[in-house]
Amino acid sequence: MKHVLVIGAGIVGLSTAHHLLKGGARVTLVDRDPEGDKASFGNAGGIAVTEVVPASVPGLLWKVPRWLLDPMGPLAIRAAHAPRLIPWLMRFSRAGRPTEVRRIAQALAALNTRVYTDLLPLLGEHGLLDELQQLGALTVYEQAAAFDGDAAQWALKRAHGVEVLALSGDEARELEPALSPAITRGVFTPQWSHVRDPKILVDKLRQSLVGRGLCIRVGQACDIGSGLGAGALSVKLSDGQQLRADTVVVAAGAWSGQLARCVGDKVLLESERGYNTTFAAPGVALSREVIFAERHFVATPLSCGLRVGGAAEFGGLNAVANFKRSHALARLAAHYLPGLRTECGTCWAGHRPATPDSLPVIGPSPRNPAVIYAFGHGHLGLTQGATTGRLVSDMALDKPPQIDLAPYAISRFN
Ligand SMILES: Cc1cc2nc3c(=O)[nH]c(=O)nc-3n(C[C@H](O)[C@H](O)[C@H](O)COP(=O)(O)OP(=O)(O)OC[C@H]3O[C@@H](n4cnc5c(N)ncnc54)[C@H](O)[C@@H]3O)c2cc1C
Repeated sequence: MKHVLVIGAGIVGLSTAHHLLKGGARVTLVDRDPEGDKASFGNAGGIAVTEVVPASVPGLLWKVPRWLLDPMGPLAIRAAHAPRLIPWLMRFSRAGRPTEVRRIAQALAALNTRVYTDLLPLLGEHGLLDELQQLGALTVYEQAAAFDGDAAQWALKRAHGVEVLALSGDEARELEPALSPAITRGVFTPQWSHVRDPKILVDKLRQSLVGRGLCIRVGQACDIGSGLGAGALSVKLSDGQQLRADTVVVAAGAWSGQLARCVGDKVLLESERGYNTTFAAPGVALSREVIFAERHFVATPLSCGLRVGGAAEFGGLNAVANFKRSHALARLAAHYLPGLRTECGTCWAGHRPATPDSLPVIGPSPRNPAVIYAFGHGHLGLTQGATTGRLVSDMALDKPPQIDLAPYAISRFN
């Protein structure tokens, strides 16, 4: 029986473990903090299958200086980290060329159109279907000009099969009466869904997988090496222990770049830190996820409360979180949701694993094909976790891939 070692107990690692166990492999999952508070546990909960447009689009770079000058704007770069970010930013800029945007959108759509095919059976097999709320999402605009300015992005989504229903402000408020009269335009995307609570989802999935034979080892992987014979890969933990396996899957979220470098592979991966606040007693009700397009934040009605979040902060993995960002987003939300009680919320920050081209890294290492990468999902890791798990498991178990994996290869960073 093939032994696969998966590094990372986020949604990507857990989904990979699910598919591997189903395929008959022996699976060990290593995480320094398997129950901890990582991106998969505190995110906005959106199954955002409609999001096929990359972060870098034509014209975006002109908006960046204004965002950076606003201390609480949607984008921040910590000064100390800026020099290290230059190669990533140059690649990000290239990803915004029209031909690149079309290519990337195609590759994101190839993953996103598979999402429910992979996610629904996974949830069903673990008794988690009730965690999914298939109610669509509502994107709202204050200014008609901003709505018009996004026309090309909505057209690109439509071209990839995304259902898009343009609404007036009043129609948007019919769907979500808590929205302020300041909203003049809306777009309803029925294919979007959200989970009741991402933390509950990953906790229940992890527990259910353990019940099916998943072995969890607490430890920090610090090196991946190869030797001879079966079980030839060895993963060194920071306490000096060595774990052996036939295949190693690197699903360590924003920390995966360090592990890829151990194998000898180059990747441009940054922490794009996001912030949110969860209000257990918000005083207003939403029935579905609402995306506030101009201000780049979202509000999701979760079972633990209304979660308001967003922001993209580039400061590296070790910078101290600046929770003023969570508070600023909460104040913005109160502008659009009159009556929102912002006095007592729980703040959180997490590291999105961000590549400059908005595409995840899925596929084998060119240096050592027994190492398979599964990271870099940026804003879409919860959405694409089940599909990534399926693709990686097929690879590890020598089954033919469900889609062309070339766009996600790590070799694109060479
Ligand atoms: C504010 C915010 C909102 C978001 N909203 C959404 C959303 O609505 N929808 C969506 O699809 N996505 C969303 N995302 C993105 C999504 O959360 C991430 O893309 C996804 O969780 C990444 O999952 P992962 O399993 O790759 O990484 P993680 O969840 O970060 O898990 C990685 C795991 O690896 C472990 N690890 C790391 N290094 C090592 C090591 N060396 N040894 C052992 N263990 C290690 C960590 O302890 C961690 O448990 C959001 C993210 C943020 C921050």
